[in-house]
Amino acid sequence: MTDIIVLGAGLTGLATAMLLARDGHHVTVLDRDPAPPAAGREWDEWDRPGVAQFRDPHIMLPHWHAQMLADLPGVLDRLRAAGALRLNFATVLAPAAYDGGRPGDERFDTLTARRPVLEAAFAAEAGSVTGLTIRRGVTVAGLLTLGGRVTGVRLTDGTGVQARLVVDCGGRRSALSSWLTAAGLPKPPGERSDAGFVYYARHFQGDPPDVLGPLLQHHDSVSLITLPADNDTWSVGFVTSGRDHAMRALRDPAVWEAALARYPLAAHWAAGKPLTGVDVMGGLADRWRPVSMPGLVAVGDAACCTNPSLGRGAGVGLLHARTLRDHLRATGGETDGFAARTAEVIEPLYRATVWFDRHRIAEIDGDVQGLPYRPNDPAWTAARMLHGSALHDPVLARAGLDVGVLLRPPPAPPAGPGLPPGPGSPPGERYPVAGERYPLPGPDRAELLAALR
Ligand SMILES: Cc1cc2nc3c(=O)[nH]c(=O)nc-3n(C[C@H](O)[C@H](O)[C@H](O)COP(=O)(O)OP(=O)(O)OC[C@H]3O[C@@H](n4cnc5c(N)ncnc54)[C@H](O)[C@@H]3O)c2cc1C
Repeated sequence: MTDIIVLGAGLTGLATAMLLARDGHHVTVLDRDPAPPAAGREWDEWDRPGVAQFRDPHIMLPHWHAQMLADLPGVLDRLRAAGALRLNFATVLAPAAYDGGRPGDERFDTLTARRPVLEAAFAAEAGSVTGLTIRRGVTVAGLLTLGGRVTGVRLTDGTGVQARLVVDCGGRRSALSSWLTAAGLPKPPGERSDAGFVYYARHFQGDPPDVLGPLLQHHDSVSLITLPADNDTWSVGFVTSGRDHAMRALRDPAVWEAALARYPLAAHWAAGKPLTGVDVMGGLADRWRPVSMPGLVAVGDAACCTNPSLGRGAGVGLLHARTLRDHLRATGGETDGFAARTAEVIEPLYRATVWFDRHRIAEIDGDVQGLPYRPNDPAWTAARMLHGSALHDPVLARAGLDVGVLLRPPPAPPAGPGLPPGPGSPPGERYPVAGERYPLPGPDRAELLAALR
């Protein structure tokens, strides 16, 4: 019998397993997917159906990097050796805001890579940790329980694995709720809804493009992500509303390129060797489901996931893993109170991210309909003004970046009537000039639609 089962060998699962094994627990990680191939072949050869976003754009924020330096520096060493990119987020502020660099900018350091490269570094480091066993090609089908306590997991081959504690790190598609129901245990309370973002993204390799604008750019009816990565690779994606059917034309690489060419700060990001066609990703539900019951907790995306365009998932998952480690230290291994601790530490980050996303998707939907988005939420107005000022003002730019990359806690989103309405947009008059709202150069809605034809 192992002490702890970690279900899932994704970014958070392996981080959790390493942190707990280092604390002296015997940890077994179970994952349905195969092990990584030989170093350097992860991108081409690693079959990873258990992680739908495995070949989608990822960037690792300074918030993630700072935590990794504190607790898992060995993974960072492996990432460096694998060609991960050192990136300082201050250097990709608008030139006027970067201002040649300022004391303290080193807090914006990070190391980033394509997702398969990231995961391979985690897997290699996890393989070297005493007390940690990873079993791949093993699919969990349900929970073992005894007297209301979870005592292990049942595998699809009919066998079981017993443990004192099961940690669900099964990601955003975790089947935990249905397993609890099947075991006659109560479902944890939570919430789930899909804001409706759809991504159209590609990876490239070549001479790395100069970064001329923010890595996340907001434009009329779309946002753009431009993410540098390891070994002279990078990714570029349109972030759109799933209700904007015209954007489905972006599935065609030629149309995608024609559309990107309209954005002066991003067009040159298509000047490389394409590593992919256009990968489309939608159905990205926000889910909040903290779990702690006897013998069972959930960590990472299995407990808390959001639309990913702010790039916060890995850092929030790592914070959650460290919170579990600290909780088990403090309680002598008991799970009681972990859901409450999750609500204290993780929920503010979840709420702030959902707050931003709901406003942004409503704004995009408003753009699509030619209607202004003017919610009754001064915090959103302030955030949009800060976004514009950050293009010119070094101090405001860093203040916005601190919050954006989670180095400072985001302000609590307003509760009640100030909350954005979600899908759809409120009625109102036309924007006088799209550029007022979108200070970065780029096409307005009509020009974007013309590029899609
Ligand atoms: C399109 C997209 C882009 C993203 N971009 C970023 C980004 O730029 N930066 C960032 O920080 N985050 C990003 N994220 C979020 C990030 O990918 C997740 O937060 C992170 O992967 C969560 O790690 P996890 O270990 O909780 O889950 P996952 O990485 O999803 O891992 C879950 C694991 O559980 C295994 N599993 C599931 N069910 C079973 C079962 N029944 N039996 C056995 N194994 C099972 C799966 O095989 C998988 O290995 C993005 C997400 C998406 C969808």
